[in-house]
Amino acid sequence: MSKLMCGKCGDPAVGEVTEIYDAVQRATEEGFIVELGRPLSMEFGRCADCAARLAVASQIVEQHPRVRVRLGNLPFVADELESVLAVLSMLGMDVSLPAVERLIDSDPVLWGWLELASVAGAIAFRQRFAPILLGPAAGDWDGQRWGWVTPEDRETLGQAVARQIYRRIEVPELMPPPNDGLRGCGFCGRSHILVKPSLASRTWGLLRDFDPARLGGEGSVLRGYLCPVCRAYAPPVGMGANPDLNDVKRALLAFLDALGKAATYDVDGLKAWAAIPDAEPGEPWAWADLEGLREELHPNRTIRYLDPYEGAKIS
Ligand SMILES: [Zn+2]
Ligand SMILES: [Zn+2]
Repeated sequence: MSKLMCGKCGDPAVGEVTEIYDAVQRATEEGFIVELGRPLSMEFGRCADCAARLAVASQIVEQHPRVRVRLGNLPFVADELESVLAVLSMLGMDVSLPAVERLIDSDPVLWGWLELASVAGAIAFRQRFAPILLGPAAGDWDGQRWGWVTPEDRETLGQAVARQIYRRIEVPELMPPPNDGLRGCGFCGRSHILVKPSLASRTWGLLRDFDPARLGGEGSVLRGYLCPVCRAYAPPVGMGANPDLNDVKRALLAFLDALGKAATYDVDGLKAWAAIPDAEPGEPWAWADLEGLREELHPNRTIRYLDPYEGAKIS
C-alpha cells in the first residue's frame, strides 16, 4: 500500500489526496520502487504545516495585487509563493501572515522572491519523483520532514535568502556600467545610475553591440550597455537587431516627455552617445541641446522631468 506523504515537505500526511504527480518511482512501505519506462501517477497529501503556509500565500496573493503582478499573475502564483515561504520556513524564519506582510513592504524583496522561486520549487518532496530529477537525489532521505535537503543545499538556499534580506537594507549608490564595455549608456551617455549595488549589473542589462554607422556616426562596432531608461526603446539583445537612430530618437523624446511626437518630429544632428568619438560619459544627453528641444517640443509649458536614475547628475 502506498504511503500518502506531503508532496511538499515529505511528512507522512493524513487526509485526502491533494495532488497527483506523474512519476517513475513509487514510495511504498518497503521503500522506493523504481518502475522504469512506465510513468506512474503518484498521489500526495498536504500536511497541516504546508496547508497553513499555502493559505498564507493565497491570502497574500489575493490581498496584494503588486505581488500578483511581480510574480507573473498566473493561476499557480500562490503555489510559487508558497514554495518560497517553504524555504524560509525550512531555514527557521517566521512565515506567519503578519511576518510575510512585513516582508513584502519592500519591492526588492519581491524581485528577490522571483529569484528564489525557481530554487524553491525544486526542493519539494514530490520532485524526488520527477522523471527528470530536479531536486536532491532519492535515497538520502532520513524520513524526517525536509530531511532530504542536504546541508549544501540548505547553505545555498540560506545564502539566497541572505542576499534578499541584504537588498532590503542596502543603500543605493551611483553605479557605473559593468567594466567590460563603454563607460556610459550607449544612447544617452549617462555615466552612473543610482541603484543598490547588488542590483547594478541587472539594472544595466546585457552587453550589446553599437554600430556607429547606424547611430549617426562612423567607425567600428563598439560594445557597451544601455541605461534602464534608454533600454526600453532598443531591440532586445540577441534578437539579431542592433539599435538604430530611430531607437535613439525615441529614447531622447521619451526622456523629454514627448514620445508621442516621435513619428513626426526630426531631431537635427541626432547621434547616439556611442557614435560620438572620444565622448566623455556624464549626465544623460549632455551633448544634446536639451533646453532648445524642450522649448520646441513643449512650447509654453514648463516641464520638470523626473528621472528615476537622476543620481547621474552628481557625477
Ligand atoms: Zn508538509
Ligand atoms: Zn541611457
